[in-house]
Amino acid sequence: MTLLYLDNAATTPLHPEVRAAMAPYLEAEYGNPSSMHAAGRRARQAVEKAREQLAKALGAPANDIVFTSGGTESDNSAIVGAVLANRAERRHIVTTTIEHHAVLQTCEFLEKMGCEVTYISPDSDGIVKKEEVLAAIRPDTAVVSVMYVNNETGAIQPVEEIAHACAEQGVLFHTDAVQAVGLLPIDVKAGKIDMLSLSGHKLHGPKGIGALYVRRDANWHPILHGGSQERKRRAGTENVAGIVGLGAAIERMVKHRRANYEHILALKHRMLDILKEEVDFLVVNSPEQSVPSIVSVSFPGVSADTMLMNLDMAGIAAASGSACTSGSLQPSHVLTAMNLEPTCVKSAIRFSFSEQTTLEEVETAAYKTAAIANKLKRR
Ligand SMILES: *Cc1c(COP(=O)(O)O)cnc(C)c1O
Repeated sequence: MTLLYLDNAATTPLHPEVRAAMAPYLEAEYGNPSSMHAAGRRARQAVEKAREQLAKALGAPANDIVFTSGGTESDNSAIVGAVLANRAERRHIVTTTIEHHAVLQTCEFLEKMGCEVTYISPDSDGIVKKEEVLAAIRPDTAVVSVMYVNNETGAIQPVEEIAHACAEQGVLFHTDAVQAVGLLPIDVKAGKIDMLSLSGHKLHGPKGIGALYVRRDANWHPILHGGSQERKRRAGTENVAGIVGLGAAIERMVKHRRANYEHILALKHRMLDILKEEVDFLVVNSPEQSVPSIVSVSFPGVSADTMLMNLDMAGIAAASGSACTSGSLQPSHVLTAMNLEPTCVKSAIRFSFSEQTTLEEVETAAYKTAAIANKLKRR
């Protein structure tokens, strides 16, 4: 049985072109970019080329890109770094209740360290209101952090509007754009975004590599110390192969963005058309204003755990809530924040697509899913 992989919001397969770009740096090109000799200089060159590739994809100056170990480190570093730079004067953070745990639990940790955090809830469509975020800003606000695209529902947040308003008020703005990069056009300069997190393995790149864009004169402090790498903004010998892979991955994502978007949108429509046709109790949780790559639906009366187990036995890889919470039986904080019926929260399944997902796979998965849902509902 072939695997029908519909969990691309959790991770994506490494693209062969990315793997090929990385290969030399896993083998013959093992130099340390900080070394002065020829091998070191070649590694340095590769790192700086990747930095240019990221900068171009984000509309940023290359010097403002900092390589990290992934989305989680970028989120931690952005928020903790903003608080560190503001010392005792500004200890207030504004964020939302639908952030990834990398942001939420960083904020909870900072609360224990004496910060105050205002959490803005979304409307029932899973989208936060710009006005509510802005109204929460205080004179002592160090940073506002609002994700670009929610990883459970795909809902697109009004990030650019919020960023522009923050810029006018002189408040630092960070966005977790892990689910947006490569699918939505992003320009940090035009968007007035001060800090942006992204991750390699959500872009058909390798795991364990990511980046944080930090505007040069942003009031921000590094959190890793012990070396002058990344212009003293992130100490530690660079993950050269990972960095090269991230550069190659983002470049090809941007190059194919429009075509991929259309392809993935067709997948989403087909999935929803089949499920709506076949399952008369289906509830769609993803709002109109969402990315095509993520579809959240509920099968009220069929617990998500049972559903996922049955999907897995049928060769379909999907998710309930976010991958991080599905191991623990906690209801999704995102769907709960949207005030969904508890029965919808308990039965929510996320299907997520990538450019490599085919229409045929989606059709097969949709009909199998519908049959399983109907069978479990009758029981
Ligand atoms: C996957 C994800 C992260 C974490 O990225 P890692 O590279 O896995 O640490 C953060 N935020 C969002 C929205 C994500 O989807």
